[in-house]
Amino acid sequence: MIEEKIEHIGEVDKEKVSPMMRQYIETKSGYMDCILFYRLGDFYEMFFEDALLAGRELELTLTGKNAGLEKRIVMCGIPFHSYEGYMTRLVDNGHKVAICEQTEDPKLAKGIVQRDVVRIVTPGTNTSAESLDETRNSYIVCVYYSGDMFGLSACDVSTGDFYLTECSDASSAEDEIERYSPKELIYGSYVEMSGLDLDQLALRLKASRTMLNEGYFEIGAARKLIKDHFRQKTPVLDEVQTLCSGGMLKYLYETQKNELTHITQIVTYVSGRFMVLDSYARRNLDLTETLREKNKRGSLLWVLDKTKTAMGARMLRTFIEQPLLDKEFIEDRLDAVTELYDRHIDREEIREYLAGIYDLERLAGRISYRNAGPKDLIAFLSSVKYLQPIKNAGSDFVSAILRNTFDEIDVLSDLCELVEKAIVEDPPFQIKEGGIIKEGYNSQVDELRSIKNDGKNWLIRLEERERENTGIKGLRIRYNKVFGYYFEVTNSFLNLVPETWIRKQTLTGAERYTTPELKELEDKILHAEDRLFSLEYDLFTEVRETVAANIERILKDARAVAIIDCLASIAYVSERNQYVRPQINTKGIINIKNGRHPVVEQFIGMEAFIGNDTYLDNDKNRVAVITGPNMAGKSTYMRQSALITLMAQCGFYVPADSADIGICDRIFTRVGASDDLASGQSTFMVEMNEVAHILKCATSKSLLILDEIGRGTSTFDGLGIAWSVVEYICDKKKLGAKTLFATHYHELTELEDKLDGVNNYCIAVKEQGEDIIFLRKIVKGGADKSYGIQVARLAGLPRSVLDRAHEIVELLTDNDINAKVRNNAQVITRGRNSARKNGASGTTEGQMSLFWGGDASEIPESSGAASGSNGASTAELVADALRKIRVDDLKPIEALNELAKLQELLG
Ligand code: ATP
Repeated sequence: MIEEKIEHIGEVDKEKVSPMMRQYIETKSGYMDCILFYRLGDFYEMFFEDALLAGRELELTLTGKNAGLEKRIVMCGIPFHSYEGYMTRLVDNGHKVAICEQTEDPKLAKGIVQRDVVRIVTPGTNTSAESLDETRNSYIVCVYYSGDMFGLSACDVSTGDFYLTECSDASSAEDEIERYSPKELIYGSYVEMSGLDLDQLALRLKASRTMLNEGYFEIGAARKLIKDHFRQKTPVLDEVQTLCSGGMLKYLYETQKNELTHITQIVTYVSGRFMVLDSYARRNLDLTETLREKNKRGSLLWVLDKTKTAMGARMLRTFIEQPLLDKEFIEDRLDAVTELYDRHIDREEIREYLAGIYDLERLAGRISYRNAGPKDLIAFLSSVKYLQPIKNAGSDFVSAILRNTFDEIDVLSDLCELVEKAIVEDPPFQIKEGGIIKEGYNSQVDELRSIKNDGKNWLIRLEERERENTGIKGLRIRYNKVFGYYFEVTNSFLNLVPETWIRKQTLTGAERYTTPELKELEDKILHAEDRLFSLEYDLFTEVRETVAANIERILKDARAVAIIDCLASIAYVSERNQYVRPQINTKGIINIKNGRHPVVEQFIGMEAFIGNDTYLDNDKNRVAVITGPNMAGKSTYMRQSALITLMAQCGFYVPADSADIGICDRIFTRVGASDDLASGQSTFMVEMNEVAHILKCATSKSLLILDEIGRGTSTFDGLGIAWSVVEYICDKKKLGAKTLFATHYHELTELEDKLDGVNNYCIAVKEQGEDIIFLRKIVKGGADKSYGIQVARLAGLPRSVLDRAHEIVELLTDNDINAKVRNNAQVITRGRNSARKNGASGTTEGQMSLFWGGDASEIPESSGAASGSNGASTAELVADALRKIRVDDLKPIEALNELAKLQELLG
């Protein structure tokens, strides 16, 4: 028969249950929104609903606890020494876990051992090893909305980083939040009226979210909390900033239930200081992980990250996600990289020292949480020992960032000395089982340890000494459980027993004595271990407290190490991969010579990668329409241009022969198709959302990478959208952003003639029989074919499918589906002047002529594609195209392309 158990806490009368269960129920009543881990001996137990939920999610067997009622209470448990993994699984699923510990020594407890919740672990505050990735920060973000302004604060409780900023609108708040990829969002209720859709955002970020009540955002309390926490380092904050950081601090105090001494400062920044990269751009450019597999391998971070420390790795990730906007800051960073690049021997020496440094930030976090064990202090010591050599090796660096950073390193010799003196070199993990304190640090420990280890020798020595002093031959120290240690003297020697000895027991042939010294020794031997362990624990915590009191100094060093490590990694990679220092300009010109894709070149080999130039400006070269066969390298080219721009703005060297980069306020990308089924959006909807977002948020200072707009719908609709998007972007009055626009709609190449600032480029290929050879070189002009079938052949489509595809293409070409469009276009343009490049200002709305038809005089002046889709005779077309070729300007590869196009025209 299945036993029926009590499953709901509400079903029991707390007055009728056992005292322990009453304590549980009382504790739980303060944490109804959490799963309560209730410490019982070596286990954390869960009861009632918590047990059912945890049992299901952690696949634990449910048992029952007798609590003095008719039925047992449902329960399940996990061993305390391995609870972190279980806890992390629950927290990752969005639950909060309240850890309830015994708060007094069970041996000293009278009645039920006192217990209390010592910490609430939430998705954004989980610092267990299982949940943390050492190469990235783990943030909780607090959002406050004042009616016209958003306050955002972000904290990584594992490192103590605390940032604060303000945003004026929902869209920039969303971008800013995304930058932190928080695991948890907390917010005030007004945010729900702000236009910022936290539901969607949380869904996308896979973050949990909790609305906090008004009590978290009360100005007086917030001011006091901040002042009490930061004391003399209290920052000057406006009201929104105060409320936002106050709300965050209150939540952290309530959940972490400790003093959070490792949160030493609030770093405020103006959100406009960094380039905002929305999630599309971050993902599409594979900045820190690949779009598809979500692997670091294959990302920009993967190429650039040769850091030696966890702090350096985290900082590099942050640098990549936060390109700078200020020329001076960028140049400062570049100066530092240049110095580390040039002084490679010093750099490599420093990198060797860095390799010995553990994660000081997270160590500081553990010290502040009082979680750090003796092994952590040894890791701290061995890390800190490298600070002096690093400082020495960097003492004559001159660039501003490096000079300040090396200067500021505090070698922490006092703490070093303390830990070195106090803690053994290879301590155990446990802190309550001794073996931690070094010999010579504390005489009592030495004595207790020697008693524990040498107890017997002490007794033998005492026995020998007393035998000699008294002259009692055969004097023995013996032991029994009732009387402990004693001297045993046979009757024949009783006259030699000193008066000071105390008789313990009389036997027939002997007497048993003790002395104060023997008693003390007995005491020591019997209690040595207990006392030793607790004394070692006390001394260890004393040392840990001293270190904890210096957390600010440690964190400053951690930051210095991170900066040096991160920049040294960039310099190292730049040297190894032959990157160059970019020029930075504020004229809006992007001029890259022989640029390379930093990731692709790693995969295919640097020799195999064909470099390409990019030139964009705010004038005649705003929009590049890029055509070319599938697989030719369009996406690679566009992304490399974006990545080089981004790297330059991070203050990094770039993969090119030279690069002059005009600072962009943002980089937007629209690349490839992807569903976002989780938020209920189709491929085309996702695409259109992204385009809408770009057109709304981009400015004339932005760089746009648009790959294949309008592919997810019917040809005409797609072409229409792509065409009008280019017109919109190109129009200086509307946007005028620098844009790389790749498309298979070859018709778009006509825009070169119609719109000022649009230029056609294509990626050269060579046809060889049925095959195409990819030349990977970008050249001026448009392509007229996509070579889709050839690429499909390369991919291994069955011969019969390919043959049929050829047939269909021919059929369609004969029917000329474009003719339909042409006819329509004729209707649209009849009686009007189609806007031409040298006409007023591009196209006037409503006057769009998609394709020129009928009259030869309407043939666009494009040097490349779309010729042939007019109605002129082939001979005229060829002659016209030939006339336009400027032989002197052609490179051989371009000439080949032109020839191919002419042949194409002839059929
Ligand atoms: P599609 O139109 O089918 O999307 P695409 O023109 O965008 O194709 P890419 O995806 O950019 O083509 O490039 C295809 C492959 O060609 C890349 O994965 C890379 O291996 C190679 N490639 C691209 N550019 C270069 C280059 N400059 N040098 C050498 N190889 C390159």
